[in-house]
Amino acid sequence: MCECGAVAGPLGVCVDYFHAILAEEQNDPQMYRWHAPVVCVHLLQHPSQAHEKHRDGQFRLLQFYLDKGLDALLRLQAHQVARNNHRARSRYDMAPLEPYAPLPQGGSPGGFRATLCGLPFRDGSFVADGHAAYGDRIRGIAEATVESWRSVEA
Ligand SMILES: [Zn+2]
Repeated sequence: MCECGAVAGPLGVCVDYFHAILAEEQNDPQMYRWHAPVVCVHLLQHPSQAHEKHRDGQFRLLQFYLDKGLDALLRLQAHQVARNNHRARSRYDMAPLEPYAPLPQGGSPGGFRATLCGLPFRDGSFVADGHAAYGDRIRGIAEATVESWRSVEA
């Protein structure tokens, strides 16, 4: 059983899946497009593995992704990189994320209806049935993550 409440899959608990995804996406630029959502869902579903101060930004970034889509998220990240290169010490630009709900106060919601360790891993790959299908699954995990954290508020 994983910290997030999920039952382990064939590769292990979520952190095992997380590391396997990071390894595979290093050699697959198309799969790497979902890197930020993967990192955010993993850290928000396993709060012991991340600093609390970053959690609000991760929560807003997932909402931005679900609202605007992957291409908009990639443009936002490119904008951040360009900005940081231009002014090395400038603050991270939070303006595009400001319209989104802040992270609810209170502990981890626990219990997510989709998790990384539920991802199918076939023929040694997460994208055996194509990148679009992989992207749909990551989006589903992102939706489940935001949904559970929102329920903390109630
Ligand atoms: Zn987990």
